[in-house]
Amino acid sequence: MPRRATKIVATLGPASSDPALLEQMIRSGVNVVRLNFSHGTAQDHIDRARLVREAAKRAGREIAIMADLQGPKIRVGKFADGKVVLEPGQKFVLDAARTELGDIDAVGLDYKALPNEVKAGDVLLLNDGLIVITVDAVQGAAIHTTVKLGGELSNNKGINKQGGGLSAPALTAKDMDDIRTAMSFHADYVAVSFPKNATDMEMARQLCNVAAENGHRPGLIAKIERAEAIPKLEEILLASDGIMVARGDLAVEVGNAVVPALQKRMIKLAREHDKVVITATQMMESMINNPVPTRAEVSDVANAVLDGTDAVMLSAETAAGKYPLETVVEMAKICHAAEGGEDFKLEADFTGKTFKRIDQSIAMGALFTAHHLGAKAIVAMTDSGSTALWMSRHLIQVPIYALTSKVATQRKMTLYRNVRPLFIDTSADRDTALNEAENYLKTRGIVQAGDIYAITCGEPMGSPGGTNMLKICRVR
Ligand code: PGA
Ligand code: MN
Repeated sequence: MPRRATKIVATLGPASSDPALLEQMIRSGVNVVRLNFSHGTAQDHIDRARLVREAAKRAGREIAIMADLQGPKIRVGKFADGKVVLEPGQKFVLDAARTELGDIDAVGLDYKALPNEVKAGDVLLLNDGLIVITVDAVQGAAIHTTVKLGGELSNNKGINKQGGGLSAPALTAKDMDDIRTAMSFHADYVAVSFPKNATDMEMARQLCNVAAENGHRPGLIAKIERAEAIPKLEEILLASDGIMVARGDLAVEVGNAVVPALQKRMIKLAREHDKVVITATQMMESMINNPVPTRAEVSDVANAVLDGTDAVMLSAETAAGKYPLETVVEMAKICHAAEGGEDFKLEADFTGKTFKRIDQSIAMGALFTAHHLGAKAIVAMTDSGSTALWMSRHLIQVPIYALTSKVATQRKMTLYRNVRPLFIDTSADRDTALNEAENYLKTRGIVQAGDIYAITCGEPMGSPGGTNMLKICRVR
């Protein structure tokens, strides 16, 4: 398999829960497995996490587990017949007080506050925007609407308000329980759904810290899928370790057409703030049913790579599709091919920037030197993963190998673009450790005699944030 810089996140589901298939998917390029907390019990998630860790072990790879919290998905209730077909022009009532099952005229709501948060003239989108209704009037708990765009509406479909503005808090009581479950199996990342501001992320961080065992610190991913989150992007980034361009819900709230430009802006802003970014939803949608992607999907994945995303994500394609393995294989190919088309502008990245931290300056020095020397590799000996993260925020041709003696750090770094995380049990003595590192790279065929590589480490070894040394080596 050729070396690929962009990472692949795959959602686990019934289509990918066979242990042998999951192992194949990991061998074929999955770097992060997303567990969707919208489905299943706490025990289900614990079992799934074990399934993933065991499959990764058999595949001989470390991968990250991302626990994706359900969040306050605002939904209609259930129907007597499981579904109705709404016709354009008809009246339809969303009734928070309704206790009986829904019919063609009205349906209940699980989000009881909705009638207080909409007014006449508002546009509501049901079932991911496939059905559009406008609010005529609100009377008590009942929202009277007219159907503009009809279609089939089945049990518990989601509701979005065009332009955003629903006040539901990002973390529900269920999410708080789910954070504890995720922490119990040491999830490497926790993704927060529908955050509106930095406070939502800070709250999630606190809940993780309270539940932490042995100081385990997951990376926090803010899913940007609410209109309100867009003007708050910067503060959300500062409170998170990364973001997800959650195009599914985002497109429903802000409109499809503006999402591609927002995607580019979010990716750029995340990288500038030293945060990771995942581009998600419908990337290979047609492969849910077909063994090959459409040309538009190929372009979509390739463009996300060219925008500079760390990772591209698969949702239903791997969770419920017919071709989970084929989708991963295709996606890996597209990423690899697109990476050949990047233009590298390291000097421009550095213009006007000052690096005041010693460890960050060393990381940037390694990057700059390796880039100009045309080095074979950059090697970061890292405890927390910070040096590898900083290096990976700039696109260069030289691959970054992050050597760590902490498995949690190794797993977290699997999401970083252009970083290959490797486990090494290093000695405390610097010269011995540097020798061990070189032997390790030689044994794995990463460097050969005569190759130049740049290596960073800290002295004393094994102290987080202690990187203070850059060495340029020629392999003997
Ligand atoms: P979801 O989030 O798949 O959990 O809804 C991603 C998105 O909305 O794009
Ligand atoms: Mn979503």
